[in-house]
Amino acid sequence: MLELDNIYANYGSVKALKGVSLNVKQNSIVALLGANGAGKSSILKTITNLLRPHSGSITFLGERIDRLKPEKTVRKGIVMVPEGRQVFPELTVYENLLIGSYARKDRAQVKKDFKFVYELFPILHEKMKDPAGTLSGGQMQMLAIGRGLMSKPTLLLLDEPSLGLAPIMVQEIFRIIEEINSRGTTILLVEQNANMALSISDYAYVLETGIISNEGSAAELQNNDEVRQSYLGG
Ligand code: ATP
Repeated sequence: MLELDNIYANYGSVKALKGVSLNVKQNSIVALLGANGAGKSSILKTITNLLRPHSGSITFLGERIDRLKPEKTVRKGIVMVPEGRQVFPELTVYENLLIGSYARKDRAQVKKDFKFVYELFPILHEKMKDPAGTLSGGQMQMLAIGRGLMSKPTLLLLDEPSLGLAPIMVQEIFRIIEEINSRGTTILLVEQNANMALSISDYAYVLETGIISNEGSAAELQNNDEVRQSYLGG
């Protein structure tokens, strides 16, 4: 579904990605693991064209997308949920969700998707009239994911969805990611919590200083000594 082929990308003189190739199959969950600064967020930014690669190609459903404007990639069905719960704190929960659907014209389907998001996150339904700034960290993360879903993604890019959340909330978020996937959305997941990420992923890539150092099925990586030592706590 999504293919990155030999992607190089820089921030000025900082070489963030140095020949990254990866593949995300339709309906799968793929995890991108790696330490701080390895380049995980940069990969998501090249896919959504917030960071333009200086060489290599990105193909989505058979079409080159590495020269599209960011808003065009959203129209193609690629939606990024950013790290840090970037919701609008003064707007209500409902208004934040509505923003996710702004580019859509299929109003009847938008209504159904509101229903779907409220089913997935009953707490957002309960708090739909509250300012988003009053939500807990976990609830804001749910809102960020909900807003992403309101854009009707075929490929959802999640940047550190478990960051800063209590363990019980982390489990809940991962359960919901699996549920979203089981309803037909493909997922590319950036995570520092490698154990949790591998527990729901079909395939994973390990990134080290801009280069893919390891890849395999979740089971293969869980049994790889090097990966276990460095990312899974031995
Ligand atoms: P983190 O988990 O900390 O977000 P990451 O694996 O997502 O880490 P990136 O954010 O992709 O890593 O960063 C890759 C490299 O690019 C790092 O060396 C980082 O310092 C650098 N970098 C990232 N954003 C910028 C920027 N806006 N300007 C300059 N350098 C940047």
